[in-house]
Amino acid sequence: MRFKWLQNKLTFVIIPEANKSVMRLRMSRAALCAAMLAVLLVLGAAAYVYSVHFHTVLSTKLRESALQTHTNRLEQDLTSKNKTIEQLQNELFQLSKQAAEVRRKVEEMKKLEHELKKLSSPGSADSPELPAAAAVTTTLNDSHEAGAALGMGGPPHPVTEQQMKALSRMAHANYTSLQKEMTELEHHWVQSRQTIMKKREQALRRPGLWPTLSRTVTSPFGYRKDPFTNKLSFHRGIDIAGKMNDPVVAAAKGTVLTVGSDKFHGNHIILDHGNGLRTWYMHLNEAVIRQGEHVERGQLIGKLGTSGRSTGPHLHYEILLKGKSTNPAPYLPKPE
Ligand SMILES: [Zn+2]
Repeated sequence: MRFKWLQNKLTFVIIPEANKSVMRLRMSRAALCAAMLAVLLVLGAAAYVYSVHFHTVLSTKLRESALQTHTNRLEQDLTSKNKTIEQLQNELFQLSKQAAEVRRKVEEMKKLEHELKKLSSPGSADSPELPAAAAVTTTLNDSHEAGAALGMGGPPHPVTEQQMKALSRMAHANYTSLQKEMTELEHHWVQSRQTIMKKREQALRRPGLWPTLSRTVTSPFGYRKDPFTNKLSFHRGIDIAGKMNDPVVAAAKGTVLTVGSDKFHGNHIILDHGNGLRTWYMHLNEAVIRQGEHVERGQLIGKLGTSGRSTGPHLHYEILLKGKSTNPAPYLPKPE
């Protein structure tokens, strides 16, 4: 029944213009269905092809747009990175210049240290100067500043990567060398300071002060006629006349070795200054320090008097060098 319906023929009449004969087209229902199916398939295929094409075009445009955005971002990054590189190059250039300036100052400090060493050790004036380190030489011109004022020019030659690497190596070498030199310099400064401190200490321990206010020497060092017996004797110190209870001060920094009293020396003090140097103060009215005390140069140690074998108020001042009395006159500053 169903197949029979499909086999039934249909007749299509096509009527052209009125004066032409009528065309008849006879086909089965099945053929008609097949034809219609074919048309539908063709239309469907066309729609599919168009859809694929449309989708492809759309996605291409989207990709292009995304690519463009990405490219723009990369260009911005590149510009930013180029600026950073330029900034780093300038900073490296400034660092190189600073290294040269620091080197100049280090050289000045070396000269200063050498002069100081000569001053602190006059006998070793021929000591060799600190050698100037093998300086990494370079020519650094800041034409950016000087150019406007002095007139400079020439074609621009951008700095290559190799040149920047070379500049970086040079700056690094300069700073490494400077670090080493400054460490050596620091060592030399410490040595110089120790030498100066030692010299200063030695100077403070050298009897270089008048022990009295008075500068009147009534009896010098050497042979003289004894004031009591009038016979020739040897005077081992100097006698400085003064008023009773005038201050008597330590001629140098040291330690109190003796505070004593006897019928010859009267009330007396012996100070030890190290290096075999001692000073002796006799005929005091009284001592104001105790044995073992540390005394500074110029510190009050006693009061002038006339105790012991003395004809009147005076100080017998004596300097002993390695146990032997020596003339104090060369040690005393000239009276003003
Ligand atoms: Zn005397």
